[in-house]
Amino acid sequence: MNTHPSAPGLSPATSLPFRDDHEMLRQTARRFFETECAPHREAWDEAGMVPRAIWRRAGELGLLCPRIDPAYGGAGGDLLHAIVLTEEQVKAGVVAPMISLHNDVVAPYLVAYGSEAQKARALPRMATGEWLGAIAMTEPSAGSDLRGMKTRARRDGDDYVISGQKTFISHGATADLIVLAAQAEAGISLFLVETDGLAGFSRGAPLDKMGQFSADTAEIFFDEVRLPASALLGGEEGRGFAQLGERLVEERLMTGVVAQAFMETAIDHTVAYTRERKAFGQRIIDFQNSRFRLAEARTEAVVCRTFLERCVTKFMAGRLDASEAAMLKWWSTEQQNRIVDACVQLHGGYGYMLEYPIARMWLDSRVAKIYGGANEIMKDIIGRAL
Ligand SMILES: Cc1cc2nc3c(=O)[nH]c(=O)nc-3n(C[C@H](O)[C@H](O)[C@H](O)COP(=O)(O)OP(=O)(O)OC[C@H]3O[C@@H](n4cnc5c(N)ncnc54)[C@H](O)[C@@H]3O)c2cc1C
Repeated sequence: MNTHPSAPGLSPATSLPFRDDHEMLRQTARRFFETECAPHREAWDEAGMVPRAIWRRAGELGLLCPRIDPAYGGAGGDLLHAIVLTEEQVKAGVVAPMISLHNDVVAPYLVAYGSEAQKARALPRMATGEWLGAIAMTEPSAGSDLRGMKTRARRDGDDYVISGQKTFISHGATADLIVLAAQAEAGISLFLVETDGLAGFSRGAPLDKMGQFSADTAEIFFDEVRLPASALLGGEEGRGFAQLGERLVEERLMTGVVAQAFMETAIDHTVAYTRERKAFGQRIIDFQNSRFRLAEARTEAVVCRTFLERCVTKFMAGRLDASEAAMLKWWSTEQQNRIVDACVQLHGGYGYMLEYPIARMWLDSRVAKIYGGANEIMKDIIGRAL
């Protein structure tokens, strides 16, 4: 089955059925992240966002929306293509461009619920990087409690009129296409918002975060914004909450993929570092404490990978449910944070210096326990299904 062990540095080996086409995408992605993104990381961190040209470049290389139908500009790929992209991005230490958000979170809303006209208009533009996608659910007073959202979509003749505010929106400062959740008369509904020249729509500056510096996260505002009725996603009002619930399964699965890549990359960095660094006349890795902590971390990562791959296999067979995706999201992001923290400790003071990848990994990891549904909400989902 599996002819490709995972990429060097991403041990332990995977049992997922990667093929030659996945491996080719892995090589392209690795070159792209290592040579075209990583050297610009500091400048992009400083700017709080990445230049649009890098999205176009990712599109040219076939890294955007590889899973969508070739009729819409994709390559008809599968989840394993998404996984190789994500693994290579994490391994290169590159947070933005947030390709998985664009490919694996936003585009699937169109694929799943878009009309033919919506798909034909948006997906080819997303595949080239001409349009950048975002999903806007969270509001200042409604994060976990999404049913409490206040953004309104009022029907007015052939239009919807949108008023409200969203916060913490990834790509909020730059997105061209936003999947927006708002309260319509029949309940929460999703709308496709094309932002270019849209009257009444505005954005805040990128928010000042404790990590993921190059990933733009911003507030967005809707002041009596008019959308044509055809902007409703799924053709029927009131289906938004169910649509979000369905799509969040895949988002949480991909959060597990990211968490796994973080764990494995952090361990590899730390094994390499502790082999080099000496104290008391011996290598740090030769202290039993270091070896034991790394042994624990490796074991925890292997156990997590086993569960991740079970979830991937179930997802590809259409059988991953919300409860199991929630288990993966909370468990793997907790382990990610524990392991990365232990790896910082094994680096000593250098682990606290931002020039070392492990320091940035620590900063970038924390949010994984909060977004995509906070881990307490994951336990609530699991608990309700008992
Ligand atoms: C960097 C970043 C990027 C983000 N990107 C996006 C995005 O692109 N789109 C988007 O829509 N949102 C995005 N978010 C928002 C994110 O999904 C929310 O922050 C998250 O869902 C938590 O909501 P909240 O911040 O309002 O916290 P709150 O809901 O106020 O929660 C505060 C605390 O209370 C706990 N809590 C809440 N309810 C319960 C309960 N019932 N039982 C037990 N504990 C509970 C929570 O777990 C948390 O610990 C992003 C956030 C960040 C930080």
